[in-house]
Amino acid sequence: MSIRPFRDINRKKTRVINVGNVKIGGDNPISVQSMTNTLTKDVLETVKQINKIEEAGADLVRVSCPDQDSTKSLKEIVKSINIPLIADIHFHYKRAIEAANNGASCLRINPGNIGEKNKIMEVVKAAKDNGCSIRIGVNAGSLEKDILEKFKEPCPEALVESAIRNIEILENEDFFNLKVSVKSSDVFLSIGAYRKLSEKVNYPLHLGITEAGSFLPGTIKSSIGFGSLLLDGIGDTIRVSLSDDPVEEIKVGNEILKSLNLRHRGVKIISCPSCARQAFPVINTVKILEEKLSNIKTPITLSIIGCVVNGPGEASMTDIGITGGGKGNNMLYLSGVQKEKVLSDKIIDRVVEEVQKKAKEIEDQ
Ligand code: SF4
Repeated sequence: MSIRPFRDINRKKTRVINVGNVKIGGDNPISVQSMTNTLTKDVLETVKQINKIEEAGADLVRVSCPDQDSTKSLKEIVKSINIPLIADIHFHYKRAIEAANNGASCLRINPGNIGEKNKIMEVVKAAKDNGCSIRIGVNAGSLEKDILEKFKEPCPEALVESAIRNIEILENEDFFNLKVSVKSSDVFLSIGAYRKLSEKVNYPLHLGITEAGSFLPGTIKSSIGFGSLLLDGIGDTIRVSLSDDPVEEIKVGNEILKSLNLRHRGVKIISCPSCARQAFPVINTVKILEEKLSNIKTPITLSIIGCVVNGPGEASMTDIGITGGGKGNNMLYLSGVQKEKVLSDKIIDRVVEEVQKKAKEIEDQ
């Protein structure tokens, strides 16, 4: 049971591409990705971090490939992970070819940066031979010199012109298995660029507000930027960029999708803010529950409400609900129906038990 979205989002039906076994675009779920910050040539540490990112709910992961040691490592890394890997290539076309040959499912490279046509053709051939897609990643901080001169400053039109230029290079090589991003650290610039690009092309769009900052400001900037675009139906895969652990990027990305009812994985908790009427310590209870329930991937709604003002109402719209009552007489609700009274110090254990039971019930259906 969950609250029906007040407003249905009409997603733009973009072209569908494959990044390994993950389909991006069209009606496919909006995927969430992050990027490792280990040295890719350190296979053990990179695999360890990818496994954590995957466990946190990532669909895709990107790793940096600045040198040959890194692209060589991809062969080993992809054997030990379960999600498709995207190789981040900045300039050198040989790294792109090596990455495609060594198991990358997608290359993040701008063909305009490669230069000579024969080199571009070699990269495209390697991508085609290996079923590898390409992400064109336009960034306001690294626009082509002539585009910057033409528009005087990074603006939505400049980002879109750069994206179209790079798209055309690949299209001229009969390559269409691509997605595009037009990122900036400025929310307005990013939103403007994505909106304009979405009007012009039908390729899936990778959303990002780049270099968004540390956890709190970065989360807020990303939520505003992604939220505006996703509500417009724009966006097929997202990467939240935080100066923080990549696991946090995945958590924030999934929460953004959850809050828009675009994708629901794991337990969605509805809970009170700070308030003196709470009959049990709601804030601490929610913190502990978030941690204890982070392994649940089944979509379940849970309300943790401190008193009867909003408790019964929220409980009627969630799978499992707790409503605070005086003297430890808190009420457990299941599917909106009162089940039993629960003592304050037993809330966490009872809720975990019921969530696990519910998850199993849904999985067995
Ligand atoms: S539901 Fe009760 S405890 Fe929660 S915020 Fe409202 S008044 Fe406070």
